[in-house]
Amino acid sequence: MSPSLLDVASVREYLSRRLLCSVETREKRLALTFDDGPHPRHTPKLLDMLASKDIRATFFVVGRRVRRYPEVLARAANEGHEIGNHSAHHVPLSLMPAPLIRRELEGCGDRVEGITGRRPRFMRPPMGWINDLVLKTARDLGYEPVIGSIHPQDSRQPGLDVILHRVRRRIEPGAIMILHDGGWRIGADRSQSIAAADILTDELLADGYRFETLSVLTGAEAW
Ligand SMILES: [Zn+2]
Repeated sequence: MSPSLLDVASVREYLSRRLLCSVETREKRLALTFDDGPHPRHTPKLLDMLASKDIRATFFVVGRRVRRYPEVLARAANEGHEIGNHSAHHVPLSLMPAPLIRRELEGCGDRVEGITGRRPRFMRPPMGWINDLVLKTARDLGYEPVIGSIHPQDSRQPGLDVILHRVRRRIEPGAIMILHDGGWRIGADRSQSIAAADILTDELLADGYRFETLSVLTGAEAW
């Protein structure tokens, strides 16, 4: 099993100097983020669960999925969740020249704005692949690049217990947790991710944590 980039302290340190990985705070607050949706079945299930606990999350969506499932995206935004940009086609931006990076980010941002009336504030590079050009291009377009600090690789479906273990050992105030409600294949199973989110939110709420969107966690105006 390959380790996550975020499991290596030196890599984590390098990344956190270049883009947002977590937020400095002593208060028990953190951000729950979900990548690769919207998905026609998984995302609504997740939205039901979050609504039942009055939790707001941040969804990093893929433009091609937004085009297929605009009503799922609209629901997430209407229910107070923040929408982030995860590119139009979920491609490794660091392999591309600036015009293509720009097209990938604008392609997703335009679709989100077309449905919600708002442009995403944050972008998360697919697979976490970055270089100077990706960061510069994203910032030139007005996006704040973000990775996160907890990456249990739930999209590989390692088993519910493994996901829970990987998250629990990295929980701390200001953390940004990366989970997945969608996938490259539309048939991707996300039952482990949703079950993990359900259990972890219960545990963390009981522990006094509050969940915030990325904008709120970072002290910006709510999206
Ligand atoms: Zn992704």
